[in-house]
Amino acid sequence: MMNKYTHSISCLMFIFFAVTVCFGGQANGSCLTGSAAVIDSKMTEAEAFDGLASNCPDKIRRKQKLLTVEYCSFDGKLHRGQLVIDAALEKDIKKVFALARKKRFPIYSVIPIADKRFRKDGRWDDDLSMVANNTSGFNYRLSVGSSHLSKHAYGRAIDINPMQNPYIKNGAVLPSGATYKPQTSRTLTKNHPIVQEFIRLGWTWGGNWTSLKDYQHFEKPLQ
Ligand SMILES: [Zn+2]
Repeated sequence: MMNKYTHSISCLMFIFFAVTVCFGGQANGSCLTGSAAVIDSKMTEAEAFDGLASNCPDKIRRKQKLLTVEYCSFDGKLHRGQLVIDAALEKDIKKVFALARKKRFPIYSVIPIADKRFRKDGRWDDDLSMVANNTSGFNYRLSVGSSHLSKHAYGRAIDINPMQNPYIKNGAVLPSGATYKPQTSRTLTKNHPIVQEFIRLGWTWGGNWTSLKDYQHFEKPLQ
């Protein structure tokens, strides 16, 4: 039989149990807690630049910095990766990643393109990075389908979640198999807080271009 006293005790125990499950359950690897991050990339400086195109001018190479970044990945866990970018953009990148974490915007992985998984015949290969849905910055290469250097060649561009935010021109989509579905949480749109933050910091978003769309791409021109 349950009297008023035992009923209150039962209620309190239930509340304690519920709180433990709700909050305690998030502690393991959740992107909101200070728990240990899943390591996606832990390269040395030498590894992050290994295989760099031999025609990359030293002046450009010396401006690049290997940054450590943390983000919520698609598994809901905190991940730690690395991004190579022009050192002058470090503050901007840190602000954007802090906002992404606060808004729980999931980023699949952030691994420098020098990683073995993104090599083709030993060379850095953007297609392999994109199809792996990897977020990346510096890569000494030309713009897609052009003969001029991309902003990535200067470390002044970043591509985020390429599979959800593809490059689209005249019906051609990169990476292959990607689709742009603006309503999903991993996708960047005009009013998305990440896009707004980049624009506030003086960057350009490829989703605002008219001749083609490059939804994954943000760049900051040299002033
Ligand atoms: Zn790009």
